[in-house]
Amino acid sequence: MFVMYAVAGMTAAVVALLTVRHRRLTELAVPLGVILGGAAIWSMSQALAVVAPTRGQALFFSYAIFPGVAMVVAGYFWRSALSAGRLRTRKRRLLLLLVHPVLLMTAVVSDPWHHAFFRGFDIAGDGSLVLSPGPLYWLHTAYSYALMTVGTVLVVRAMRRAVRGQRRLYLWFLTGGSAPVVGNLVTLFADVDAQRFDLTPVLFLVTGLVWSVAERVGVNREREPVAYAQVIAALTDAVMVLDPKGRFLDVNPAAAGLLAALHPESRGDVIGRQWQEIAGRHFAARFTGAIQSTVTGPDGAVYDVRVVHMRSADGTCPGTVVVVRDITELERLRAELTDQAVRDGLTGVYNRRHLTAVLDEAVAGPDLSVVLIDVDHFKIVNDRYGHAVGDQVLVRVAEELAGAVRETDTVARYGGEEFVVVLPGTDALTAADRADRWRARCAAVAVDTPLGPLTVTFSAGVAELSAGDRPDDLLRHADEALYRAKRAGRDRVVVANGADCKQYSV
Ligand code: GH3
Ligand code: MG
Ligand code: MG
Repeated sequence: MFVMYAVAGMTAAVVALLTVRHRRLTELAVPLGVILGGAAIWSMSQALAVVAPTRGQALFFSYAIFPGVAMVVAGYFWRSALSAGRLRTRKRRLLLLLVHPVLLMTAVVSDPWHHAFFRGFDIAGDGSLVLSPGPLYWLHTAYSYALMTVGTVLVVRAMRRAVRGQRRLYLWFLTGGSAPVVGNLVTLFADVDAQRFDLTPVLFLVTGLVWSVAERVGVNREREPVAYAQVIAALTDAVMVLDPKGRFLDVNPAAAGLLAALHPESRGDVIGRQWQEIAGRHFAARFTGAIQSTVTGPDGAVYDVRVVHMRSADGTCPGTVVVVRDITELERLRAELTDQAVRDGLTGVYNRRHLTAVLDEAVAGPDLSVVLIDVDHFKIVNDRYGHAVGDQVLVRVAEELAGAVRETDTVARYGGEEFVVVLPGTDALTAADRADRWRARCAAVAVDTPLGPLTVTFSAGVAELSAGDRPDDLLRHADEALYRAKRAGRDRVVVANGADCKQYSV
């Protein structure tokens, strides 16, 4: 008996120290150390109670097991709550666990006066001490079982919520935890005499060892791959793993859906089949070279395809990971935003910023002309018909211009009611000829207003690029010609001719 308790106690003490040394690796180490430390005190005291030379000393060691018991109970609950994930936010509540040990110690130390913990003792046939439990002993026992039951329930509930791979961790936990519960119930109720052979500390040592081993063999680290698998399964990106020969090794649900759409006959059941056969028709073999590419799918959907060539520790390539993301909506928004950035909000023709960019590029080419257009007496339109009608007129003029120019020309809103048309590869006279046709067309188009149909005219200045001209020079010459057109009575086109201006039309 002594040898069993002593060996159990020393083992528990050694494992407790080893466990606590690992406290940086896992937060479960300290509570486990508390359990094992408690089991060590408990077993050692049992051992010493057995061999104590006097009855008084035997009694002392029988009481001395209780600090150990208290540690085991508190440690058990602490560790259960931790592994059930219940202590992340409520760490302070742990302090409540100290209430039981304090009360227990008070009861034990003061027992000689009130005998409410142990009512007394008998001497067994072999001369050993048999203590008869009092009400406080049973209160302490009931509390201990209640606390450990709550801990176990927390773990069982966490296990039911856990994902498949994590359940194994909790099973290890429950297996270890059930040893003392089962063993202790047997020792308590099977035979009164069994009190003398209380196996509980040894059984808690079994618990501690099972948990310690489970942790040491890295069961906890299984959480990582399990978590990875869950994350990959939850992704809306299609993730596919291919072996070096291009066969599917694994696909997540999103990938199965995508592949089923690309190759309906496969119904997404592609493991072991060739990438070329299933997806190659649409995605070609593009992924073999590039790390990233944008691919348009069969239904016009746009996909971002990323390829990662896996590398194992020995430098070989065990396969490829292909991640496909549907970026159709993103691309549409991007295109829309890009377009909005270069367009005028009211009229839809290009804005002044884009005009600057176009002119910067165009002045490098030969034969460039610009037409600067200004609506005549526009203030009167606003005053007489209101700003809204004024806007309508601007939209109409812009539409007429945009509909009349060539593909290579650029129509931009230059200011309030001023537009610029850039005509690459066009000399001034040809540009003026065209501008005059636009002028006639605009003058003939009426805008409906509450006050009846409204027509407006515009004046235009045309300038042709001379050697050494910058965009500003070109626009300045066109503006000078426009000024002449206004001065000459409006509703006409004037061509800038060096310092001079030539009226093109009346
Ligand atoms: P002119 O024939 O000499 O060009 O006479 P005008 O009345 O057109 O003279 P001016 O170019 O100075 O006036 C332009 C007017 O255009 C002034 C401004 O209130 C108006 N305007 C500028 N931007 C807008 C706009 O976005 N909407 C409307 N409705 N009016 C605008
Ligand atoms: Mg103006
Ligand atoms: Mg004007």
